[in-house]
Amino acid sequence: MPTLRGPHLRTPLTLLTSDRDALLRGEEGILAPGEDARYLVTRSGAVALSEEADGTLRAALETADPRSGSTQPLVLLGRRDGLRVLGVELGEGSAELDDPGRDLRDLRHVADLLDETDADLAAAAVAMGAWHRSMRHCPLCGGLLEPELGGWVLRCREDGIEQFPRTDPAVIMAVRDGQDRLLLARNAHFRARFHSVLAGFVEPGESLENAVAREVAEEVGVEVEEVQYMGSQPWPFPRSLMLGYRAWAPNAGELTLQDEEIAEARWFTRAELAAALEAGEVELPGPASMGRALIDDWYGGSAEA
Ligand SMILES: [Zn+2]
Repeated sequence: MPTLRGPHLRTPLTLLTSDRDALLRGEEGILAPGEDARYLVTRSGAVALSEEADGTLRAALETADPRSGSTQPLVLLGRRDGLRVLGVELGEGSAELDDPGRDLRDLRHVADLLDETDADLAAAAVAMGAWHRSMRHCPLCGGLLEPELGGWVLRCREDGIEQFPRTDPAVIMAVRDGQDRLLLARNAHFRARFHSVLAGFVEPGESLENAVAREVAEEVGVEVEEVQYMGSQPWPFPRSLMLGYRAWAPNAGELTLQDEEIAEARWFTRAELAAALEAGEVELPGPASMGRALIDDWYGGSAEA
């Protein structure tokens, strides 16, 4: 598949280049062992990687079923070079993870080091792994669930009701004031110097645009007057979809921190941000994140110290 063109912001996880072969999911034996089966192991947001001689990181596609008798479901992630790539989430503390030969790394920290197909494969593997880890029983009757359609559906053994993988939409927004300054905040749970743009989950029954305005009002007491959609990114930790926005608050007055989650917030000019980065007073989110893409979009290039 070609990379999609568009005016949207791109991050290492927005690039869509691999074919998930969704139409094959229903085929008999699509998850069966065989010469053409390759396994990609995930665990709690981490993915198994291999490092090539020149230092390039690749998704580690194993030839042997890594489950060694356990019953974790497999997921058809797609085909690559005629091989079926099957994702498998190995639980915390399972015996398989004592295998010192497996290099599991947090996808948040390595997404920008992977090529486009591997990043896409890893994002799907981590997301589906998180779903299978959390969805063990039917939410209606508590019955056991059986995987179907290449691991993309779970059906209750008791009542036959299907469960599909969930994605939780979250908005993330670069708010600018009347002087084109950018609002950056430090979450109370973040590291001491770590600043980012505001973000929050979309509530049931709410539009994305209203979620942007509500979150900004709730967190810093600022009224947003205009929003512009800028692109999206899967953030499968465990199941978010980040929807990025530019937002304008031309009549913003004093910031009022109304939410205990926000420890600090302030407006930055580009020069002030450059100086704060240079002085090591501010640390920004990593290059794999939509937050960083939005900050760089406002900055007019990569905001590096
Ligand atoms: Zn049920």
